[in-house]
Amino acid sequence: MNKHLAIGALSACAFAALFATGRIEPPPVHAATDEQKKLAWAAVERNAEAIAALSDNIYYFAELGMQEHESAKLLTETLQSIGFRVRTGDAGFPTNVWAEWGSGSPRIAIVTEVDALPEGSQTPGSIERKPLIAGAPGHMEGHNAHAGVTVGAAYALKQVMERYKLPGTVAISYGPAEEQLVSRPFLVRAGLFKDIDAALLIHIGSTFGTGIGLMNYGAISAEFTFRGKTAHGAQNPWDGRDAVDAVVLMDAGVNALREHLRPTARAHRTITHGGIQPNIIADLGKIWWYVRDDTGPKTIENFNRVVKVAEGAAIMTSTTLSHEVVASAWPQLSNRSIAEVIQKNIDSVGTPVWSSEENDFARRFQKSVGVPEVGLATRAIPLGGRPQSFASNDNGDVTWVVPSGNFQFPASVPGVQYHNWVAAVTPTLSISHKGQVAGAKVLAATVLDLLTDPDLLKRAKAQFALDTKETKYFPMLPASAKPPLELNREMMEKYRPEMRKSYLNTKPAFR
Ligand SMILES: [Zn+2]
Repeated sequence: MNKHLAIGALSACAFAALFATGRIEPPPVHAATDEQKKLAWAAVERNAEAIAALSDNIYYFAELGMQEHESAKLLTETLQSIGFRVRTGDAGFPTNVWAEWGSGSPRIAIVTEVDALPEGSQTPGSIERKPLIAGAPGHMEGHNAHAGVTVGAAYALKQVMERYKLPGTVAISYGPAEEQLVSRPFLVRAGLFKDIDAALLIHIGSTFGTGIGLMNYGAISAEFTFRGKTAHGAQNPWDGRDAVDAVVLMDAGVNALREHLRPTARAHRTITHGGIQPNIIADLGKIWWYVRDDTGPKTIENFNRVVKVAEGAAIMTSTTLSHEVVASAWPQLSNRSIAEVIQKNIDSVGTPVWSSEENDFARRFQKSVGVPEVGLATRAIPLGGRPQSFASNDNGDVTWVVPSGNFQFPASVPGVQYHNWVAAVTPTLSISHKGQVAGAKVLAATVLDLLTDPDLLKRAKAQFALDTKETKYFPMLPASAKPPLELNREMMEKYRPEMRKSYLNTKPAFR
């Protein structure tokens, strides 16, 4: 065990025992002390305003994946202002942000994202549809809250690590374009997580909750391109080879395939190029598929069968086929040993105490979207009570290379669905701000446990070995895949000048 760690973890009584006996006893092995956690929580509470200000700034940036330039800049400046070393541009992603403080082991990573969604622009607090800018992107999931939670926890952790001379490194990874499942397989491939001992994934939710085992779904996103030969639709259609026929036949083929996939499978698509006009036989057709299942291996198995259907469609139409895997994600694997510690910290921190105004607002909001008027969450989900979600997050890849915990913090209104403008109503309200403070406390406390309890890390690593014994990580992304630098650029450039007018331009000051 590291000598500094031994002293850092030594309690006052252990020091007394050491001097009394005159010999060095092995230090007691335990998680972060209550005093350390209390110090962290006081730092978070003291900085509640800065936490909110940071997240609110990011809300108004509302940047789509790969275009998180303003968000990356503000995160970089803020993290540097609290003493973190920050890099951008890793793995070929200009908006990837990686921040670190401390030195040596253990190395604990916090993993999150700050991207927004298309057409999510909405006036905060208005439960009527009222975009800030019609058609513009917006934070209709609340990823902006991830900024406040992570930097709030980072600031608190640095305070405690300095005060108690705790060795180890805290890293924060803000992966670009989570909403399109883009960056994490690349970050894993670039080796960013290879020296990390444990990772914590955080996400906004409407309740506090962690989980054990598989937390969500694997997914592969791929565009299939068929190329044929154009001809006049009436004059000489026999000379044409219709690429849109291939698209339609692939769609029908996948629908026939569904019956022979496991009930856990999911596949959904959009036709991205469906010809020009009816009397021109289309020489180009494109269809974009998401294929999912509840494990990584099943996801790739389904995907390979979908590729076969595409090949069949190309044969039937005498067209040629190519496909590009745009993105991929493993389901998140949540480590039991880390989850147990997260749960303890959730129980100690507790769900925020909501005011009657906040609860009244939540009920009115729930009524307006047609879900049960239950108000805000009053208690955390018990351990094991969170079912596997059908959605995906590309941070799942991290969890198959590093023992990872995973929790959501209560910063939105129960029943209000994400990926819908309604979820953009609350991310800058007090409901979100209170949830961020609670989330930052749990995050800081759990990182402290991981930093100070070598036994916990040992258990987490043993659990990870067991969980990954049968299923080994492999990249679902083809080796030739490159970061999609142009993704969302056009849309962001279209709206950004107008969006700039709503920027808050406040500098969050942590102290
Ligand atoms: Zn998300």
